[in-house]
Amino acid sequence: MLKLGSVLDAWRPKPGPGSDPLVAVRAAWPELVGADVARAAQPVAIEREVLIVLTASASWSHQLAFLEPEILRGLGALAAAPGITRLRFRVGKLRRPAASGGRHGGPRQESAAAVSEPPAKTLDDALARLRRSVERTRAAHRLRGGTFCALCEAPVDAGPTCTPCRDDVERRRRYACERLLFEAPWLSSDEVLALVDGLTPEEYDAIRRRLLRSWWDELWRANKLLKLRQPIDRVRLRKLASSFVLLETRIDPLRLEMDSAVRKNALGDLYEFVCTIEAGV
Ligand SMILES: [Zn+2]
Repeated sequence: MLKLGSVLDAWRPKPGPGSDPLVAVRAAWPELVGADVARAAQPVAIEREVLIVLTASASWSHQLAFLEPEILRGLGALAAAPGITRLRFRVGKLRRPAASGGRHGGPRQESAAAVSEPPAKTLDDALARLRRSVERTRAAHRLRGGTFCALCEAPVDAGPTCTPCRDDVERRRRYACERLLFEAPWLSSDEVLALVDGLTPEEYDAIRRRLLRSWWDELWRANKLLKLRQPIDRVRLRKLASSFVLLETRIDPLRLEMDSAVRKNALGDLYEFVCTIEAGV
């Protein structure tokens, strides 16, 4: 039987399709935080749900940390960069902002305030400006009859939550279900449904089918790689094979240990391959 802790290490969600969220964040950043702040703080990486922001000094990091909720609210409205829930500030060498304005460049994507106002003289001025700009935008939205997302407080035109949050809730539900099926494939569907808030039996079935197919494909690819004497990740594959058999057969894990015929049957053409990786040859 596999230990839950060791299985957790092997869990790696697949990166979703679509464009690079960091590129989207960088593009929106000056508009989001204002030109003053953008000169002193630059997003450089996204690690899981954390956006890493390089700042000009510890004092900038400290002050911007107070504005984290506002900045996250702004980021939450970016459809191309969903799922950022935290910011982490690091002091570092900032890249000089790209020289602005080609000779025939159209209007830049900077806010009117950023263009008309001279650069803020102090950090406090810059932050106060950012706060004012956020408040202005929100007030204008409220005046137009707009509401705010119940989860991230981003402006929304209709509905209780913004699209990124709605997608995010679905994504989290799917992720929680996938993770449970991988870590604890012996749970019954009722048990999984009880553990994942809002998950429907239809979603569960679809996720189970998709996971089984993708695990099978991964094992099959690894089988080919092994034949070609290419390196494979045996630890992950062993866990994958175990989860696959349990989820596929729905057999009690304790019974499975005694009844290898069930295993052989479930793994079919991959049975010998799985025996090989388990023997550690
Ligand atoms: Zn939202």
